[in-house]
Amino acid sequence: MKSNPIYEIYALKYAGPFTSSMAFVLWNEGWDRQIERNYYVWAIKGSEGWTIVDTGTGVSMASQRQLSRYVNPVEILARMGINGDNVSTVILTHIHFDHAGGIEMFPDAFPKAKFYVQRKEFDFWINSPFAKRKPCQARTDMEAKRAIGALKGTDRLVIVNGDRKIIPGVELLLAPGHTVGLQTVAVNTARGTAIIASDCAHVARSFKEDIPSCLIMDMVGWLVSYDKLRGRASSIDLIFPGHDTGMLTDYPKVTEDVTRLV
Ligand SMILES: [Zn+2]
Repeated sequence: MKSNPIYEIYALKYAGPFTSSMAFVLWNEGWDRQIERNYYVWAIKGSEGWTIVDTGTGVSMASQRQLSRYVNPVEILARMGINGDNVSTVILTHIHFDHAGGIEMFPDAFPKAKFYVQRKEFDFWINSPFAKRKPCQARTDMEAKRAIGALKGTDRLVIVNGDRKIIPGVELLLAPGHTVGLQTVAVNTARGTAIIASDCAHVARSFKEDIPSCLIMDMVGWLVSYDKLRGRASSIDLIFPGHDTGMLTDYPKVTEDVTRLV
């Protein structure tokens, strides 16, 4: 049997740091304490090119929300030589503004790429009336939803139902809780299976201490997702969260605002 290829994973910070109450990021722990977080996209490097995980925030939404130190994610990817020629896959972990908003520019910036999203996530944000209700509306982006909806029915949008290996050594793992159909990405690396978990946790502590964030759709589902990811990763230190500032400070710097996680 052919062994899986080995990949490297990079974190690219495109905005932040932002300060919020610790209890917002770690379920009800420390309303009187502060914590910092960054906004990221991730890139997986293989011998055949790049896979991008998430699209960051779009330019208009970033100015609307006045995101501090925002840089267009497409420009940060370009710092790594990641461009329309060498990207065939873009994975959307979930349809919150800070992860999916950049979709308004990605189909043009990466013309060969197919976009992967979970069916539950797509159906909820694009079709469900509940997605228009206040607690959901605050986290999403109408432009992003329009852009994703516009890909429906084209060969550029791949709607996935549950776990699926999309290329050798890269597997999508459904991990709901934070949203109804959040997906994470298990990647074969030199250190074993690593997981880009996105907002399945905002910070690495969550996986170690079993504490989700306050942005929650299903608590039990979320804890089941923690068991699943901890069971699949070769080490708990290889599960990378969505917003931990440590991803920028505790790993080798490759270029401005970019680190190699593994
Ligand atoms: Zn989120």
